[in-house]
Amino acid sequence: MALSQMLGRLIGVRQRVVDPGGGGAARVPRPVEAVVVGGGIAGMSAAVVLAERGVAVTVLEAAPTLGGRLGAWPEALTDGTQLIEHGFHAFFRQYYNWRAILRRVDPGLGFLKPIPGYPILSGQWPTEEFGRLPPAPPLNLLALLLRSPSLRLADLRRMDSDAALPLLSYHPERTYAEFDTATADQLLTSLKLPDRARAMLFEVFSHSFFNREAEMSAAEMIAQFHFYLLGNPEGLAFDCPDEDYATAIWQPLTRHVEKHGGRVVTEAAVTRLDREPGGWRVRTADGSAYRAAHVVLAVDPPALAALVAASPGLPGAAPRLVARMPAFGRPGPPYAVARYWMDGDVRADRAVFSGVSRQPTLDSVTLYHRLENSSRRWAERTDGSVLELHAYACDEGVPAEELAERMRVELTMLWPEAAGLRVRELRARVEAQAPAFTPGSHADRPGVRTDANGLYLAGDGIRTEFPSALMERAAATGIIAANHILRAEGAAAEPVRSVRPRGLLARR
Ligand SMILES: Cc1cc2nc3c(=O)[nH]c(=O)nc-3n(C[C@H](O)[C@H](O)[C@H](O)COP(=O)(O)OP(=O)(O)OC[C@H]3O[C@@H](n4cnc5c(N)ncnc54)[C@H](O)[C@@H]3O)c2cc1C
Repeated sequence: MALSQMLGRLIGVRQRVVDPGGGGAARVPRPVEAVVVGGGIAGMSAAVVLAERGVAVTVLEAAPTLGGRLGAWPEALTDGTQLIEHGFHAFFRQYYNWRAILRRVDPGLGFLKPIPGYPILSGQWPTEEFGRLPPAPPLNLLALLLRSPSLRLADLRRMDSDAALPLLSYHPERTYAEFDTATADQLLTSLKLPDRARAMLFEVFSHSFFNREAEMSAAEMIAQFHFYLLGNPEGLAFDCPDEDYATAIWQPLTRHVEKHGGRVVTEAAVTRLDREPGGWRVRTADGSAYRAAHVVLAVDPPALAALVAASPGLPGAAPRLVARMPAFGRPGPPYAVARYWMDGDVRADRAVFSGVSRQPTLDSVTLYHRLENSSRRWAERTDGSVLELHAYACDEGVPAEELAERMRVELTMLWPEAAGLRVRELRARVEAQAPAFTPGSHADRPGVRTDANGLYLAGDGIRTEFPSALMERAAATGIIAANHILRAEGAAAEPVRSVRPRGLLARR
């Protein structure tokens, strides 16, 4: 254990048990059926836990492949088929619940490889390194303040320390009560940071949540600062699979669910949900119907709102859920992902993953040929490279190819050698499926339990009472949904874990 983690433990920064699980039979004592709608992280996490306890679970996924926003599928290129992903993902080490699910298929998590470094690139200022900080607070914060070229002692004196206190004082109720109606932009402005520190240390961070600062709740930003930096003993370093997500995650998880008697059905878009005596009837686009006592809706926010709207019985069965949907179903801004297959490589010292600050479109660059085996093989065969460019909150209405070209041009300003690379193939996409965390949205954010018996929600937009975000929130809410079902049916629940529940300076 690193010194910073030992110090962190002394002040209570360590893994915490939110729910110890257990409390019932190893398997459900009588036959129980459950349907999980959506085969992303949230849905498959729920399915894994339910299947292991003997629930006859069926996952219905609309797409031909599993994974949702962590999905992967084959793409035919002119020189061979490649599996490509919906986008590069950082698997942080405090993702305790998601990692617990992944351990089912690889107990040592050997497929996750550490990514060395986490640099932030800028056209204006020198690169800032985030990944090599000590893992735990308070030493990580001290090291950031002392080492960062973006913050000098004089800057710290000019900063408004009162305004900075909320960042250190995250509290699951008070933070939302005091800051949910303000924007992240207002919070950052109130800190009176020098422009460079704001751009290099804070803006890159807030962009990673697929929301614009001017439209994102300040409370949510404080919560994420706590989850990723100030309340977590694992640090900002992260790991990534060295195989595509289908091979590393979705195929083995499917086999695991099936081995325990569950079913995973793809190309099964759910079109409506009806209450029936003793449970629910779930209908799919091909006219099939599935009956179950319990249903977990583990779809993205716009899909959830659409499904609720298409289910005429729900206003009677779950009026609070229905009332929350119009606001909840509006996603965050569009995000763009462009994967480029190039005819040469960038400089050897470029990092595998880099965040980007203050470019109009580009937010991150990933060198897939130095990360993932199939891209590595393609690059070796062709003397090329595979680059993935992301924009986390881009302009509405711009076609994917245009966003891809904007990102490529912005990259050439940061890495001039990229201008000399010829594009051999491009796959570009723009989507809007990420949850919005708009100011004032917390009070009405739906939780896992709905007001209808046997109907649960899971996904990265669903509320948790403990710090979580993105993939980890998806997995945690999936497990919590499964736990509600297991407890209702007399079976043992799954443990749920998180980081320190409150900020270092939060009053009890
Ligand atoms: C480009 C990109 C990069 C990201 N990087 C990171 C990262 O570095 N770290 C991190 O933690 N997170 C990251 N995320 C976020 C992460 O992908 C999500 O938080 C997570 O995958 C959400 O999982 P989910 O199961 O809640 O939703 P989804 O993945 O959206 O899954 C929902 C599923 O429901 C299915 N569905 C929808 N409607 C229906 C229907 N009617 N019937 C049946 N099925 C339906 C969808 O097809 C989908 O498979 C990133 C996301 C993107 C887009």
